Amino acid sequence: MTRGVRDEDWDRAVGALDQAGEICLACHVRPDGDALGSMLAVAHALTARGGRRVIASFGDQPFKVPRILRFLPGLDLLSPPQAYPERPRLMITFDASSVDRLGLLAGHATRAAELIVLDHHASNPGFGTIDLIDPAAAATAVLAGQLIDAMGVPLTAAIAAGLYTGLVTDTGSFRFSSTPQVHRMAARLIETGLDPAFFARELLDRAPFGYLHLLSAALGRAVLEPGQAGGYGLVWTTVTREDRAAGRLPYEVTEDVIDEVRRTDEAEVAVVFKESDDGLWHVSARSKGRVDVARAAVALGGGGHSQAAGFTTDEPVPDALARLRVLLAVPDGPRPVPSAPAGAAEAGGR
Ligand code: AMP
Ligand code: MN
Ligand code: MN
Repeated sequence: MTRGVRDEDWDRAVGALDQAGEICLACHVRPDGDALGSMLAVAHALTARGGRRVIASFGDQPFKVPRILRFLPGLDLLSPPQAYPERPRLMITFDASSVDRLGLLAGHATRAAELIVLDHHASNPGFGTIDLIDPAAAATAVLAGQLIDAMGVPLTAAIAAGLYTGLVTDTGSFRFSSTPQVHRMAARLIETGLDPAFFARELLDRAPFGYLHLLSAALGRAVLEPGQAGGYGLVWTTVTREDRAAGRLPYEVTEDVIDEVRRTDEAEVAVVFKESDDGLWHVSARSKGRVDVARAAVALGGGGHSQAAGFTTDEPVPDALARLRVLLAVPDGPRPVPSAPAGAAEAGGR
């Protein structure tokens, strides 16, 4: 096990929360289930104790909760970033690997008198005054659960909903980092009465009809480059604004495309370029384990984990791809025999 959070830091965090009259929460932009779920869980826990103002937000403009997460209890606890105090006395960030991942709220974090950083990205430099960062945690939700326990707040169904959403999202529905601790935590959450089948349907098994055509277009133009990623193979594709225009689909529907592309047996690394409404490319990269995609993503201004990382670029795809190929060229493991079918034998193994 890699390093965890020091006991004294949990104590300092709980002490700061106990004394605060106002607590400001923020998760990373374009929030996923771990970011928003963790933040809402802690918002519920802080609200349950009463006696102080809780402000929860994320720095997107326009401020919109992704459709897929609108089933979460507690959206009424959210306010737009414009309502955020300019100089928070106490602020907590969720699942943000660096301060710029807070978007419009990055400056607020920099100005906060006390900043608790709750995160599980190894690339996190520790930008808080109290860093609750554990790269061994499967999700920020694990750390949010520990914080709630440390505060002595009993789990409610609403708290559990946020934490469970974070766990399901970041473990790929218990496929990755699926440790005994993760399952013990899931068991505790389910014991509050939540229905796992409902969460699976909401988080994993739904999409608007137009998604089928978008997926078809994106998969249809996927490119396999067996010689790339140190000879282990690279597969990549794009999802453009035009792909979304036909079905009037929001950007967030592009997030799941990587889960199809990364199936590719012949490629160790999968990459999807997703074009947002403002023409930027948000890039998702996944590795089966032998190539560190976080290292490449960090070098390109992004972040993430060794097997799941991303970055954002305004460069044309061919240029960004050229830089990515160079960065992916040095895998951590031994090089395969050049004539061997890349990754074929190990496909699916983690
Ligand atoms: P995604 O591909 O969006 O599911 O993200 C995979 C991982 O990479 C997550 O841990 C994200 O936090 C991280 N990540 C994705 N995009 C960025 C970005 N633009 N900057 C920093 N980290 C990112
Ligand atoms: Mn996240
Ligand atoms: Mn996460």
